[in-house]
Amino acid sequence: MFAVNVAINLPVKSLFRQFTYAVPEKLSFLDRGWRVVVPFSGQKVEGFVVERCALPTAPGMLAKIKYVEAALGECPWFDNEMLATATWLAQYYMCSLAEAMRLFVPGKTSIRRQAVRDAAGHLLYYTYGERLKEKTVQAFAVTEAGREALESGELLKRARAQHGALAVLADATEWLSAAELGAKGVSRAVLKALWERGLVAQKEKRVLRNSYARPVAVGESLQLTAEQQLAVDAINKSIDSNKQEMFLLQGITGSGKTEVYLRAAAHAVDAGKQVLMLVPEIALTAQLVKRFQAWFGDQIAVAHSKLSQNERGDVWYRMRTRQAQVLIGVRSAVFAPFADLGLVIIDEEHETSYKQEERPNYHAREVALARCRNTGAPLILGSATPDITSYYKALCGEYIHLRLTQRPNGSQLPAVHVVDMRRELQEKNFSVLSRQLQQALVTTVAEGEQAIVLLNRRGYSTFVMCRDCGHTITCPHCAVALVYHSAHEDMRCHYCGNTAPVPTECPNCHSRRIKFFGTGTQKAEAELQQLPDVRVLRMDQDSTMAKFAHEDILRQFASGASNVLIGTQMVAKGHDIPNVTLVGVLSADSALNLPDYRASERAFSLLTQAAGRAGRGTRPGQVIFQTYDVENEIIQLAAKQDYDGFAKIELEARKEFFYPPFAQMLKLTIWDKSDGEGLALAQRLVFYLQRLQLEGKLSADALQISGPFPALVSKVRDLYRFNVLIKAKDLGPVKEAILKSEFKEQKNIYFDVDPVSVV
Ligand code: ADP
Ligand code: ZN
Ligand code: ZN
Repeated sequence: MFAVNVAINLPVKSLFRQFTYAVPEKLSFLDRGWRVVVPFSGQKVEGFVVERCALPTAPGMLAKIKYVEAALGECPWFDNEMLATATWLAQYYMCSLAEAMRLFVPGKTSIRRQAVRDAAGHLLYYTYGERLKEKTVQAFAVTEAGREALESGELLKRARAQHGALAVLADATEWLSAAELGAKGVSRAVLKALWERGLVAQKEKRVLRNSYARPVAVGESLQLTAEQQLAVDAINKSIDSNKQEMFLLQGITGSGKTEVYLRAAAHAVDAGKQVLMLVPEIALTAQLVKRFQAWFGDQIAVAHSKLSQNERGDVWYRMRTRQAQVLIGVRSAVFAPFADLGLVIIDEEHETSYKQEERPNYHAREVALARCRNTGAPLILGSATPDITSYYKALCGEYIHLRLTQRPNGSQLPAVHVVDMRRELQEKNFSVLSRQLQQALVTTVAEGEQAIVLLNRRGYSTFVMCRDCGHTITCPHCAVALVYHSAHEDMRCHYCGNTAPVPTECPNCHSRRIKFFGTGTQKAEAELQQLPDVRVLRMDQDSTMAKFAHEDILRQFASGASNVLIGTQMVAKGHDIPNVTLVGVLSADSALNLPDYRASERAFSLLTQAAGRAGRGTRPGQVIFQTYDVENEIIQLAAKQDYDGFAKIELEARKEFFYPPFAQMLKLTIWDKSDGEGLALAQRLVFYLQRLQLEGKLSADALQISGPFPALVSKVRDLYRFNVLIKAKDLGPVKEAILKSEFKEQKNIYFDVDPVSVV
């Protein structure tokens, strides 16, 4: 007999240690990577076998040891590569191995307990099954007796239909369902008769749910441009040689990156390998999914965030059993099992939706990198505005830099005008739309063309304030202003979702002079509707709550049913609508004013991506940036769509202030119901690290510890939040020191490695 070390999958606890269980004879096949059911503090829970080990020898220990109860599934869930990636993830993102491994399993806790009772209803024992339900149908095949009957022809006279059915079944290479047999002219009555006579056998056959299965036409093939060909050649060479290389595919908007992805993916599939393609959000990339489907047909599996747990289980199953070759999915698809992963593509790699904002705070790009290192698959990162860190790595030669500088269909990048909103005010235009944008909108729709208007704030107004005492209406649970929403005529908190009626008087001084300030998408929508012949559609979080709402809105807009699309940043991304010739950005500087080291990067990328939506067809596009800060360098560079120019100044600033890519960063967020206790805990943590630093026990190079500071939104859902920021050349020693301390398992301390924002 032997034992196994098991990581316990209990989401409520962050258990860092593993537990040893004896393996009973009937489970002697167990090895690393299996999912099992084990007893744990009076419960039966799921665990992951981390390794086999010897039984403890101390007699006391042996007497106390508990046994593994059951194994889940038909084979180990984790192969060596997945285990290696999970181990790396736990270390890098400072979580337990169980937390890291759980990410690979569809569904949070995936065992289901069923009580087995005697006739009197007394509980006898529990059985365990997988929570994932396989969808099955009855399937049929011919038996030996059936073959004999067919050959002897004994049924020919009395039962021709049964004879015919046996012939169909004898020809089949796999088990056929009643529906499949029906299509071949075999009725259910005939099947039943054959089964009763023992001439056919019956079993359950697994069928896979595929919510994206749609017949599509085979895609046409384009002649690649020279730049595209160069990129494809380089990547294909890497796929063939099984050399683990990383590519940064930097191509201006509309330069045909998708075509490069398609060719590289096809090359990998032809070589018998599987491809993982990550996208920021499926709903906003419907066009890309369609192009892949046109090319690969049913070799594609799609994993979006709205899949049910069972559907996700089916998608994973198709990848593992090679029933699909290409997986397109959002962030969490980076944890899918593969039979033979040969290429990973990350589209729009700069998008922050690749970062998980809850524990463990992993970034899909880093996880993909780890998986590629462990499998030898090449990785393609694609973007018009790469993450500054990726760009820097390409400059340093760590990534191979591939560039697409032209649009293949010959269309030009749009002309961008920067409009000074201060002047509009001085000249008594109080609308959120500048005169130039109004004019351009009117002309565009008059010509039968379409426009996109971006405003990165939802709701109607952005805050409500008393004119007499200056009191702002804030959420009682969060330290932010409530936003007026015209649709329901109420006030909403964008952090906790709390709603409140619109006050008729100031809660502070009882004045009735309450006023709405600022502009959100709803108010902009109302103003746009005043323009002649403008038919507006709005796309923001409030209008896209329903499943597939994004697609519906984009489809409606692409069909021409409306001619102006207003929305938050989701209107700036991905889609390719040739009739859009005008893009307006209502407050181009709003993203710049965040007190965060990545504010410029985000603003630049949002503005460039938005501008890239205009003039993708045959007619030239124009773009209008409205701003209160016309001289702003970032806005000017975005207007010229000069990524390299932007990157140059941004990298200089990052170097000077010691931010990534020149430093590694760790953000610790401490939250507590009590303001004082949260702060005290944060201070203890800082003192602990500072003491180690003073005593020379932290060998981290250029270590900087700052904080605690209250978070930018210092209270959310009644919890106070404090941040501590740590920067170093290499954070390894700091992570180690924290993981050795009492702070490691504290539930109200959040470790965010490589945070996407520091506020
Ligand atoms: P990106 O993803 O870089 O923004 P897309 O891949 O969506 O760009 O390509 C933009 C447009 O150019 C698409 O309509 C695409 O069909 C077209 N296109 C891409 N490559 C070529 C090519 N080699 N020849 C002609 N048209 C192309
Ligand atoms: Zn007041
Ligand atoms: Zn709130």
